[in-house]
Amino acid sequence: MRIVLLGPPGAGKGTQAAAIAAAYRVPHIATGDIFRDNARQQTELGRLAQGYMDRGELVPDDVVIAMVRNRLQLDDAAIGFLLDGFPRTVPQALALEAVLAEEQRPLQAVVSFTIPDEIVIRRIADRRSCPDCGAVYHLESAPPEVADICDRCKGWLVQRPDDAEDVVRHRLEEYHAKTAKLEAFYRERGLLRELDAVGPVEEVTRRALALLDGKGVSR
Ligand code: ADP
Ligand code: AMP
Repeated sequence: MRIVLLGPPGAGKGTQAAAIAAAYRVPHIATGDIFRDNARQQTELGRLAQGYMDRGELVPDDVVIAMVRNRLQLDDAAIGFLLDGFPRTVPQALALEAVLAEEQRPLQAVVSFTIPDEIVIRRIADRRSCPDCGAVYHLESAPPEVADICDRCKGWLVQRPDDAEDVVRHRLEEYHAKTAKLEAFYRERGLLRELDAVGPVEEVTRRALALLDGKGVSR
């Protein structure tokens, strides 16, 4: 399976990616998670990305493209991959297309999460994340067992700095200005599959799996 999840921040891509990646047994590659891991470990890549992330801006294309190209070369991606948060611009989409064409393993589907801005703003306002292991919670729809503590690693949960309201507004502007046009890009290529991302998590998962199973993406 080789698919891309496309949609605004807070649409539920990471949440659904976990379920889809488990069902199809492919690695879940989330560029935002890779940048956050690098920022935490203070690598050169992390230091470079941090300022863009804090401001809610996209990291420059050449940096992201090189990073994803390397990630797709790792052994676990040989059987397939689920890309979450990449591509986010037309140059990124063209670069991905070229890399996969070289390897003769083109994308099979792009799942586009459709959801109004008001709902993603609410989802992000109540998102809490574990800075240690990356687990994601929601105060209402997916609360931790003990308030403020990560179920998985017992770390303290925080609100991501870029989930602050003013940064979220800028991230949504970036999405509408640069990423939303990828819907047309992939529709032209016959790859776009629209997913209604409003509703309970399990319901959206059922829709996503039905959409992929029904479109010839084999498990
Ligand atoms: P993205 O990866 O697209 O930024 P997330 O998967 O992190 O989005 O989801 C954003 C927030 O919304 C998280 O706090 C998550 O727990 C919550 N969430 C995800 N899907 C749903 C849903 N279907 N209903 C309600 N809350 C959801
Ligand atoms: P996310 O976790 O997907 O919401 O991404 C968090 C932040 O990481 C974004 O706001 C960007 O600053 C950066 N980022 C993640 N993926 C990309 C990408 N494909 N292109 C540019 N910047 C990205």
